[in-house]
Amino acid sequence: MKIGVIADDFTGATDIAGFLVAGGLATTQMIGVPAQGTEVTGDAVVISLKSRSNPAEEAVADSLAALDWLRAQGCGQVFQKYCSTFDSTAEGNIGPVADALMDALGEEMTVICPALPVNGRTIYNGYLFVGDVLLEESGMRDHPITPMRDSSLMRLMEGQARGTCGLVPLATVEAGPEAVRAALAAGRAEGKRYMVLDAVSDAQIDVLGEAVRDMALVTGGSGLAAGIARALNGAAPSGAHGAEEAGRPLDGRGVVLAGSCSQMTNRQVALYRDIAPALALDPERCMADAAGYGAELADWVLAQPAGPADPAPLVYATARPEVLREIQARFGAAASDAVERCFAAAAARLAAKGVTRFVVAGGETSGAVVKALDLSGFIIGPQIAPGVPWVRAIDKPCSLALKSGNFGAETFFLDCQPGAVRAREGAK
Ligand code: ADP
Repeated sequence: MKIGVIADDFTGATDIAGFLVAGGLATTQMIGVPAQGTEVTGDAVVISLKSRSNPAEEAVADSLAALDWLRAQGCGQVFQKYCSTFDSTAEGNIGPVADALMDALGEEMTVICPALPVNGRTIYNGYLFVGDVLLEESGMRDHPITPMRDSSLMRLMEGQARGTCGLVPLATVEAGPEAVRAALAAGRAEGKRYMVLDAVSDAQIDVLGEAVRDMALVTGGSGLAAGIARALNGAAPSGAHGAEEAGRPLDGRGVVLAGSCSQMTNRQVALYRDIAPALALDPERCMADAAGYGAELADWVLAQPAGPADPAPLVYATARPEVLREIQARFGAAASDAVERCFAAAAARLAAKGVTRFVVAGGETSGAVVKALDLSGFIIGPQIAPGVPWVRAIDKPCSLALKSGNFGAETFFLDCQPGAVRAREGAK
């Protein structure tokens, strides 16, 4: 295994896994720290933790457990992944986790680089920008859990980690990988524990990827990980290396479960229910008996035609905003919770009855379904839409497309039907 990633939340893990696959590394994403002895294949493994905003000691303990597992797998490089907006507080958890990983690995210095130029996250003179404004002037200023009121990565890091933090400025990055390596060595000789890496373009990210590809510990966002993947792969174009092969969707019976009420999901449901068997779920029945009603919905799905050309049946809670508001006014958050439990129950029964393809719309809904199916990790497959790959469970015959609310085109559910991936690739 070339790279082992420790990611501080689930969507951040999915994000970096997608970039690693695009960079040519066959990638598996694990939910939580795998049990010792769990074997995975591939070039990269991403362990998704929930350590972004829990107490620093817990984040450190979980990250060290992840490190132990990765080392037992013989992983070459450890990558600490955080958000491209450096989501953290004065207490951490980026700094404390980085300190602990360095201590455990016996490293004296590592790099800090949340830059993700394709998404407008750039670093200049050590200051982090979001689009054309400083981090502290972006919406992150008022984030409910991790408000970012400073944009200097050096100050942020020195505030939450041990030791001092230096900078590899843009001019050095422009001079190429050798110059960056020399600047890192100079920083190390001066006793810096951390070095912030400037980058405002993907070309600079590639220089950095090349410069840090052999470091035992790297910290950053998914941009730097993509740079390292490209450096390791000699920059083969995305899709040309077959890294996503093992995650291709399985054949077999499918279902679409839509639990998002986002605008885009409303449009996707409206389009798809005209061509596939579709059933609108009743939130009141979920509240009365989520498990029993979920099983009933599953049986309806199983009663639909399931030939190779039949579109997968759709069960949807998706409602227009005014309808959702009315339901929430009547029942409060309990309704949403009951809807999630109903989808979870339906998914569990469908899996038990041999359904192998789950298309799920909604972030929370996806979380509930993954939990109900008791999955420990996924192999990342081909993209259906930007940010939404097919994933294949490592321990069960089950493929999933997990889409947060606004992702995907209006035709997303159609794009998930058998043959759609190959047809799209053939059309390229
Ligand atoms: P998104 O990614 O769009 O935010 P989520 O699945 O994360 O979607 O969140 C949608 C939430 O709304 C879930 O908790 C889901 O159970 C709930 N929900 C969906 N439809 C309804 C409905 N008709 N009535 C009540 N709650 C609903």
